Amino acid sequence: MKKTTELLEFHTPENESVIFPVATVEGKSPGPHFVITAGIHGAEYPGIVSAIRIFNELDPEEIHGTVKIVTISSLKAFESRSMFICPVDGKNPNRYFPGSPDGTYTDVMVNLLFEHIISSADYHLDLHGGDMVEKLEPFTLYHTGADAETDQKSREMAYYYGLPNLIATTSDGTWPDRGSNYANSAEHKIPAIITEVGGIGQLEQDDVELHLKGIRNVLRYAGVLKEPPAAPGSITEYQNFVWLYTPVKGIFSATSPSETTSRKIKPWAT
Ligand SMILES: [Zn+2]
Repeated sequence: MKKTTELLEFHTPENESVIFPVATVEGKSPGPHFVITAGIHGAEYPGIVSAIRIFNELDPEEIHGTVKIVTISSLKAFESRSMFICPVDGKNPNRYFPGSPDGTYTDVMVNLLFEHIISSADYHLDLHGGDMVEKLEPFTLYHTGADAETDQKSREMAYYYGLPNLIATTSDGTWPDRGSNYANSAEHKIPAIITEVGGIGQLEQDDVELHLKGIRNVLRYAGVLKEPPAAPGSITEYQNFVWLYTPVKGIFSATSPSETTSRKIKPWAT
């Protein structure tokens, strides 16, 4: 029964260091092994800060089982403020799970993360926060196509997280989820979701609070916290996740640049 923090360090075959900051809360009573990962995209700060906040909040006296939290899964990206990718090899880690022990840096990193931390989980929650080019509505994704029980538990996790948009994805859908952290866990029979709150690389307290509300409720659902989960508010459920790709090169803005300028920037030389 305790709270611990540690830096788990490994090395790639090329002897490069791979470090995961891990925070663990061991509960007084037996219960599930719940794993939370954040910062697989190292500049998505609402997810990272929510991971740290929930660690500070959880009381070993009150929880059942163990909560293991990787607060920053892609430390190289965090340290270099890289959007989406791991700067060592330019790969997006959330496309390469379960990785490989003898690939490039990202392959090795995600393989270590899965094999040493995630693979023993009963539940897995992957926190994201809207990178610099993402102005997002909060949403949760869960994978379907593993087995009926895992699909159902993943869907229940997604439901109880309570974000207003809920999307089921598959390995062969319009946006194939193969290689993502949550889909890989589900394919290994670990109920899992990815939750995204925040946007344009900002750290807003409202976004962190929304994440924390969802985390607490999913911990209740899993039996880590003893209260029953609260029924969430209105959720729109989608069966498809479509990414649009432009056939031409250019710059896209959801609002016109002149609108953005007139609304948000005051003249500085008057
Ligand atoms: Zn992300």
